[in-house]
Amino acid sequence: MVNKEQLKEAAKQEEKTLSQIERQQLELESWQPKTKLGKLVKEGKIQDIDYIIVNGYKILEAEIVDYLLPELKVEFIRLALSKGKFRKPKLVKMVQRKTAEGNKPSWIALAVVGDENGHIGIGLGKGDDVPKAMQKAVRDAKLNIIAILRGCGSWECACGQPHSIPYKIMGKKGSVRIHLLPAPVGVGLVASDEAKKVFRLAGIKDIWVQSFGQTRRRINFIGAIYDALKKLSLVRVHPAYLHLSGLKVGKI
Ligand SMILES: [Zn+2]
Repeated sequence: MVNKEQLKEAAKQEEKTLSQIERQQLELESWQPKTKLGKLVKEGKIQDIDYIIVNGYKILEAEIVDYLLPELKVEFIRLALSKGKFRKPKLVKMVQRKTAEGNKPSWIALAVVGDENGHIGIGLGKGDDVPKAMQKAVRDAKLNIIAILRGCGSWECACGQPHSIPYKIMGKKGSVRIHLLPAPVGVGLVASDEAKKVFRLAGIKDIWVQSFGQTRRRINFIGAIYDALKKLSLVRVHPAYLHLSGLKVGKI
């Protein structure tokens, strides 16, 4: 079983790992690319993340994303309720793992990365310790980066600026279903605090979110939002229409 001391220690590690993650993103000179795509990026032959995403090239090195999106920000979705007198980890959640010797604690973390300008990724990390779970979540989020489609699909607004999404879209994960709806300028992010993190990092300023099912299961809830944003970007729009309607894929 996990006791108070272990939880306090986990809370400490959580903070330490957060600052480690920030530092690592800036230490790219020593990066030795292992994939062809990585080499092309480091040599400066590919300078645009949208080129990689639009062509469907698989990103296998997180550094590719760090390199092309130096302004990338990382956030963690709160998976655990942290009530009580002493400090408990807020960003990671403990899960008991059954082993021959009894129950062993392990940790899960859900990371969101984004450049606040049309790119977003989410990743789930599991590990025997807090740093491992957090690092893996960030790495996975970077490998899952997508370019999202922004626009103004609101009837009341029709400003033609990419401050929202161009049309209503549905997403699902597990038992959770969500609808994302375009909202007029000034409405803001009408969503829960954790969902707001995703939209902020994606660069969406106005949106309505409707959710159904067990939305307290945050991994599924955030996963459903990511699913919807991904579907949004998979809809092929004719370039001429993109231009006319003020829709934007990826960065602006
Ligand atoms: Zn508008």
